[in-house]
Amino acid sequence: MLIVDSHAHLIDRDWAPAGYWETNAWIVSRRLGVSLEEAHLKVAEMWDGTGDPLVATLDRAGVSHGLVLNVDWGLAQGQKDSPLPIEEIHHRCYQVVQHHAGRLSWAVGVDPRRPQSALMVHKAVTEYGARAVKFRPDAGFYPNDPVAYPIYRECLELGIPVVFHCGPILPPLRSKYTEPIYLDDVCKDFPELTVVAAHLGHGYWQQTLSLAKSNPNIVCDLAHWDWYVGSQPRRFYETVRYIMDVIGSQRMMFGTDAIGGRDQAAYLRWVRAFTEIPPEIELAGIRFSQGELADFLGATAARIFQLGTPT
Ligand SMILES: [Zn+2]
Repeated sequence: MLIVDSHAHLIDRDWAPAGYWETNAWIVSRRLGVSLEEAHLKVAEMWDGTGDPLVATLDRAGVSHGLVLNVDWGLAQGQKDSPLPIEEIHHRCYQVVQHHAGRLSWAVGVDPRRPQSALMVHKAVTEYGARAVKFRPDAGFYPNDPVAYPIYRECLELGIPVVFHCGPILPPLRSKYTEPIYLDDVCKDFPELTVVAAHLGHGYWQQTLSLAKSNPNIVCDLAHWDWYVGSQPRRFYETVRYIMDVIGSQRMMFGTDAIGGRDQAAYLRWVRAFTEIPPEIELAGIRFSQGELADFLGATAARIFQLGTPT
């Protein structure tokens, strides 16, 4: 069965503002109870601008293709921009996916408040083969802000989707911008645009689902829902079943939120949550057809992001 990771990341040190790494280290140190110095070393394990560890992880997990969502935090509140200019980061992403042609594709991250942002999208798609735009509204803008509308028009012309981070987020990013309700105007003002609600909005998932029911152009990914599968598996599978009953498997995509190839074991566990559904789940009457799993694990993403037929 074709498996596509519709939501992976690659971040090299210079691709994000220094403040982003500082905050990450602070969070890691609080979570793990380690010194800030140790936390910085852990954070540095995320840095990768080659894609090699990510592809090695895809190989181990039997994942055919990964969509790398490039992100632009540059204009986030109180941040200095990334050391590397955003257009240079786009070029690096292009080089990485070129190097791993057939295994990786990418989505261009751009903050719509940047001058020439629509032009950047045009260039990334037409010259660098980007398959989508990735927005991080949590950097400080609402998806329905008119500043983003020229990019939506550009995406419609280019025939590509926009992926929105949805759901509560770590500092210095702001969660209020990530509520799914702000996608509603975008969906209605651009009914032909495919709007991807990433993470299904995490804790806002019911709001996302209810909006997706009223807006047929919303597609959802379940990236990073491995948070939920471990502790209460039955509840997790029941919830996924319910979501699939409401919007159908053709509007749902598997994704990991992996940063580079970090934590292969966790990556594998998350893939197996769907390729090896525990028998007790089926015995409990929670079932997924092969067709539904095929859509969710790969076919929906291959169609939405026009990945061709990755094998
Ligand atoms: Zn992500």
